[in-house]
Order: sequence, then C-alpha cells, then structure tokens
Amino acid sequence: MSGATFSTQTLLQLSYLVAAALFIVGLKRMSSPLTAVSGVRWAGVGMLLATVVTLAFMGASPENLALVIGAVVVGGALAWVSGKRVAMTNMPQMIALYNGMGGGAAAAIAAVELYRGDAPNATHLTIALIGGFIGSVSFSGSLIAFGKLQGLITRSVRFGGQKVVNLAILIATLVLGASIVVAAHDSLQMVSAFFVMALLLGIAMTLPIGGADMPVVISLYNALTGLAVGFEGFVLDNAAMIIAGTVVGAAGTLLTQLMAKAMNRSLGNVLFANFGESGSSGTGGVTGTQKAIEAADAGVMLAFSQKVIVVPGYGMAVAQAQHKVWELCQLLIEHGVQVRFAIHPVAGRMPGHMNVLLAEAGVPYELIADLDEINAEFETADVALIIGANDVVNPDARNNRQSPIYGMPILNADKAKNVVVIKRGQGQGFSGIDNALFVLDQTRMLYGDAQGAAGQLIQAVKAAG
Ligand code: NDP
Repeated sequence: MSGATFSTQTLLQLSYLVAAALFIVGLKRMSSPLTAVSGVRWAGVGMLLATVVTLAFMGASPENLALVIGAVVVGGALAWVSGKRVAMTNMPQMIALYNGMGGGAAAAIAAVELYRGDAPNATHLTIALIGGFIGSVSFSGSLIAFGKLQGLITRSVRFGGQKVVNLAILIATLVLGASIVVAAHDSLQMVSAFFVMALLLGIAMTLPIGGADMPVVISLYNALTGLAVGFEGFVLDNAAMIIAGTVVGAAGTLLTQLMAKAMNRSLGNVLFANFGESGSSGTGGVTGTQKAIEAADAGVMLAFSQKVIVVPGYGMAVAQAQHKVWELCQLLIEHGVQVRFAIHPVAGRMPGHMNVLLAEAGVPYELIADLDEINAEFETADVALIIGANDVVNPDARNNRQSPIYGMPILNADKAKNVVVIKRGQGQGFSGIDNALFVLDQTRMLYGDAQGAAGQLIQAVKAAG
C-alpha cells in the first residue's frame, strides 16, 4: 500500500469516526427538549461530513459522481421542502416514509452486491442478504404504514389463516436466502425472488395492523432500518454506516419497547394479535349520554377551583391551541389556582408531541408531569380539563375487559371531582372506540374547536373576576 493511499484511507476512516461521534452526541442531545434542536444539528453535521468524505475519496468516475450528486440534490431538495411543509400532526407518516427510504437504500446496497455476484466469501454474502432482507421488510412495511396513516389505505386487511400465509412467506424468503449462500451463486432469478418475497413479507405483516398499534410498528421499522444499514455498513466496510445503523437500531428498539409498554402491549401481540382482537367489543360498547356545558359555566368552575389538571391530546395539536391554553392557565394561576399538565406517553401523534407543543407555548417544565408522576393526583383535582384528548383518558382501558384498549395505561382523569372535555363533537379517538369518560356523571362536554373554546374560557374566567 502506498503512502498516499494509506493516508487517504486513514483520513477517510478518521472522518467516519468523527461523523459517528457526532451522531452519538446529536442523539444524546435529542433526549432533552432543551437541547434537541442542537442535537439534530450535530447529527446533521456528522451526516454531511460522512457524505462529503465518501464522495471525495470513493474514487468514482466523473459520470458516477455526477449521478450521485444529482441524486443528493434531488433527494435533499425534496426532503427540505417536505420537512418545511409538514404539519406536526403528520409527522408519523413522514417518519414512516423517510424510514422506509432508509430501509430501501440498505436493501438497494444489498441488491447491488448480490446481483454483482462477486462476494468474496459466504460471510460477506450472508451479511448482505440479512441486511437486504431486513431493509426490504422495513421498506415495504413502512410504505404500507405511511399509506395507512395518510388515509390512503383505510382498511386493515385481515383474513383467516393470515398468520400461516405470513409464516409461509417468511420461510420461503429464508430458504431462498440460504440457497443463495449455500450455492454461492449469482442467479438473477433467485436473488430477484428473494427480494420479492422479503418485500411481500413487509406488506403482509403490516396490512393487518391498525388502530393504536401503528406508532409501535413505525418505531419497530425504524429500528429495523437502522439494523439493515448497520449490516450493509459491514458489506461496504464503512464504519460510519455501521455505527450510525447500530445507534439507530438501538434507539429504535428502546423506543419500540417504551411505546409498547405505554400501551401495555407486547411486541408479539402488536405484530401478531391485531388491535381490537381477542374478545373485544368493537367500538367499546359505551352507553349513556354526553352532557354539554357552556363556556361561561365551565369558566366559573375553573376560576373557583383549587387545583386543575390539564390533559392535552391530539385535538390540541390539530387546533394549535397550546398558546391559548397556556394563556388560560396563566390566568388561572393568577387567580390562585394550582395548575398542572398531565402528559400521556402516546398523546398526540408522536412520542413527545405534547411536550414539544407546551414548550413552544412557554409552559415551564415544572408544571408538566408524566403519567406515573401525576396519576395519583387526579383524586385531589377539582377539575380535569381535557383538551382534544380521547384514547389516553378512556377509563375502559382500566375497567372494561371487553374494551379493545383494555390494559393500556391511561391518565386517571375520571378520578377528578369534575371533568371538562373540549372537543368538536362526538368523534372518536385514534383507536376508533367510544370513551366511557365522556358519559360519566361528573363529566361535561364543551363542544368546539380547542383554540376557540380555550379563547371562550379565557373570557369566561376574566368575567368570573
Ligand atoms: P385521540 O386521537 O384519541 O383523540 C383526539 C380527539 O381530539 C378526538 O376525539 C377529536 O374529537 C378531538 N379533536 C380533533 N380535532 C380537534 C380540534 N380541532 N379541536 C378540539 N378537539 C379536536 O387523541 P389522544 O391524544 O388522546 O390519543 C392519541 C392516540 O393516537 C392514541 O390512540 C395513540 O395510540 C395514537 N397514536 C399516538 C402516536 C404517538 O406516538 N403519540 C402516533 C400515532 C398514533 P372530535 O372529532 O369530536 O373533535
């Protein structure tokens, strides 16, 4: 090896190491709302460094280099525009889509290696195949998840014997993969069949999953994409890919576990049992009528309370009501009311969704509590003020074994002396089931858009003196 080559290689590997360190620092900083934005930037700089040194040192022909730069420009521009435009409430489908692209890219690397048919040994071939398999499943599965969350696929496809069919697809994919390794051959048909079956598996696995299980599935595919990238990093001997892939895989796995736990579902249950299966009663079978309240009366109730716990949910995010809600709470605090915010781990449409919105509105962190911290306090609250939340406060999850969400930990808003629920009408939550909280004796419904209703409550509290 010449001195020049050695120094180029050393520089390349060193740059990858620096990039990987930047990814890890970025990820660490993303763990707190205070440092999250800078965390994204650190990780972005790492990605830029890894991309630039790869382009500079990969020794590509001018034509190939032009193609790569063209792809980076087109992909970067699309990502920039869509990232700027996406509404916070549409983040899950955006994550599903980008995540799918990552899995697809890893699978594409595997495809190039396999179609080229010049793998140096069986280990290399096996690693490429494993990465290709995981990446393909993540790619097609994520696209189906995107279709579901975007409302393009409105039904969960379920049929008798589905698990057997899925198992058959899995076995066929594994057998094809094993044959490619054993025969060490580069049969185009065999490699193509392998990828078709892996892509089919992602589709077949995701089609039956629905309702409140989608966040867990997206997070799982995120972890799988990381893993696939890591495997393909070994194939390309690229340290940045190995480390970044492993970090994403580990972070995704932890997030998947966290979300599954927040919904009291095991991963096997999410993937193989189907949301709403096992003796549940469809939309929950809630009986009773909802009782409406006028903003003026609700305002008086709030103004004369000692303690109010605010439970924000998806509806607050859609209405972008966080600023008005905080204005209302500040007014209550001036009135001597003790106010706290209760955050459910899967409130809204992405992990940390409510924390981000409340931080944006300027709510101090010490007023915000998570489920474990606040649940015992509802009994001492005069009012639980529910703002566009539904599934996360459904007491059937605790009390009704027949409910599809039975077992999911919820915020115990039903234990408060009074409950005021702001929502536009009698619409259901994400899981599509009725909410037993809304028909309780102590519950009053303040119908309207969350932002408008919060504005009316501000006026009402002011009028109450
Ligand atoms: P839900 O989706 O259960 O309910 C939201 C409620 O907000 C609806 O019942 C709706 O009723 C009301 N609403 C909608 N728009 C407005 C508006 N403009 N003003 C006032 N109210 C409005 O929300 P939760 O936050 O309680 O629960 C989150 C759900 O989303 C869970 O099931 C969770 O599993 C799922 N999920 C969570 C993800 C995450 O990572 N956090 C990701 C994906 C899904 P109405 O139509 O009558 O107004």
